[in-house]
Amino acid sequence: MSTEPRKNGEAAPVEAANFIEEFINEDLANGVYDEVYTRFPPEPNGYLHIGHAKAICLDFETAMKYGGKCNLRYDDTNPGKEDTEYVDAIEEDVKWLGFQWAKRCWASDYFDEMYDCAVMLIKKGKAYVDDLTAEEMKEYRGTLTEPGKESPYRNRTVDENLDLFRRMKDGEFADGEKVLRAKVDMASPNMNMRDPVIYRISHATHHNTGDKWCIYPMYDFAHPIEDAIEGVTFSLCTLEFEAHRPIYDWVLREVGKWENPPRQIEFARLELTNTITSKRKLKALVDDGIVDGWDDPRMPTVAGMRRRGYTPEAIRQFCRDIGISKSNSLVDFAELEHCVRDDLQNKVESRHVVENPIKVVITNYPEGKTEMIPVENNRNVPEMGEREVPFGRELYIDGEDFMEVPVKKYFRLYPGNEVRFKGAYFLTCNEVVKNEDGSIKELLCTYDPETKGGDSPDGRKVKGTIHFVEASTAVKIKVRNYTNLLVEDENGELVPDEDSVHETYAYAEPSLGDAKPGERFQFFRHGYYIADSKYTTEDEKVFNRIVSLKTSWKKK
Ligand code: ATP
Ligand code: MG
Repeated sequence: MSTEPRKNGEAAPVEAANFIEEFINEDLANGVYDEVYTRFPPEPNGYLHIGHAKAICLDFETAMKYGGKCNLRYDDTNPGKEDTEYVDAIEEDVKWLGFQWAKRCWASDYFDEMYDCAVMLIKKGKAYVDDLTAEEMKEYRGTLTEPGKESPYRNRTVDENLDLFRRMKDGEFADGEKVLRAKVDMASPNMNMRDPVIYRISHATHHNTGDKWCIYPMYDFAHPIEDAIEGVTFSLCTLEFEAHRPIYDWVLREVGKWENPPRQIEFARLELTNTITSKRKLKALVDDGIVDGWDDPRMPTVAGMRRRGYTPEAIRQFCRDIGISKSNSLVDFAELEHCVRDDLQNKVESRHVVENPIKVVITNYPEGKTEMIPVENNRNVPEMGEREVPFGRELYIDGEDFMEVPVKKYFRLYPGNEVRFKGAYFLTCNEVVKNEDGSIKELLCTYDPETKGGDSPDGRKVKGTIHFVEASTAVKIKVRNYTNLLVEDENGELVPDEDSVHETYAYAEPSLGDAKPGERFQFFRHGYYIADSKYTTEDEKVFNRIVSLKTSWKKK
């Protein structure tokens, strides 16, 4: 522990927003640490998901709040499962979320130093090579109610251990034949303290160190050393590591190289309704071809949410809103959608798009004439200005805006009813023309030229306002609406719903013909949409529904 007084400009306590910041404030005030240095330590064995986004926001924002630093560290101590594709994806995702790391580090860069630390422990009599099989080791470990039994190899001499560990490193033994264990306490009530394995043999090629090593450090040994080497002060991790904190502290204390070792603080994992937050399970969805890659717009991965059209601001806000807690809970996915809607509502322009289009012919409107109707780009933000949409004799309206036999309180178009066509005129439906199969061919309507602009000079009121797309200039677009990728089966297990992409064609006002991949819009009265980054081309515009306009979810 440093006893030096803190220097000018060093981190000072801030108003604590959660229990982690309370711990930090205490440590800063007591001079335990003079800076806030955190890290985000993903294992590069898959794409990041919404749970990681929470950890990223916490790690980076906590450091930022105290004027500190945060590293991006690849926790690559498991050869075989890790891949550089994932490394690139992780970097893109962290940057997209809006964060910049102080350093990018690799746990595998510290393998030499970790090996030295292990040798040090052996020399202190604090680690030994064990020949028990995995099976036997499990037996010897005891249970929560019974103490463990000491391995017959536990009392090997230091020299014997040094020799065997070196030979493990030199590749003399097969996978699983021997392990190095910390010598802690086989009777500890904490199972993680019953001589945990700290090195194992694995003759696998590592993506960074190649075939240099055939022994690899285990998480409980590697993680505290990684943190300490980087000068991390607060190592934030999820709750399942709480019971590992004694071994984290034990390793740092026994290795004893660091004057001011880091402090581990645990917080609750983020779990969302209808959502898997496990890379392994998400990888299975990709490998089984159930989704269109890791960035499928239905995936809870950062890449999927990006392609779906979620914004980094919305995700960060969501992570702040749900807060940091010490107990696990399930968050309603609708809360994330609420943040997305909230962020988009003042940012994106609206466009007229109609799904399941029905044709309207205005029998008293001049043939061949079109006029331009001004409409606001964003109802909430007048500064976003106006644009013009064409209006003419033939229009399309949305299938939901007409009922041949209206239900009660239906104020949109039906035979005999007059409604406002937004910003244009009042129209009355006079006749429904059918195809031979009984489906609707077109609606014959008349308009009132006196109602231009959408108001009647005689004060006549209409109850419904609907939007439209002019037929001769309409652009046909592909629209993909999504429902939950995962749904509960009869046992309450989350299983993929093969029918969670609903693709239709729609007619849009002409400007959408120029939409670029990644551009977002509100489809007026429908929802927020983004031009899909993978499938949108010059000739075909494909839109993902980001989120619908309405929700039943209420902010607490
Ligand atoms: P997975 O089970 O998906 O592989 P993991 O925890 O093994 O998750 P890591 O790459 O080791 O994945 O995680 C990097 C960091 O992200 C860790 O600090 C971990 O605690 C945190 N993290 C992972 N999942 C969540 C979650 N659901 N909520 C909050 N933090 C998480
Ligand atoms: Mg992990």
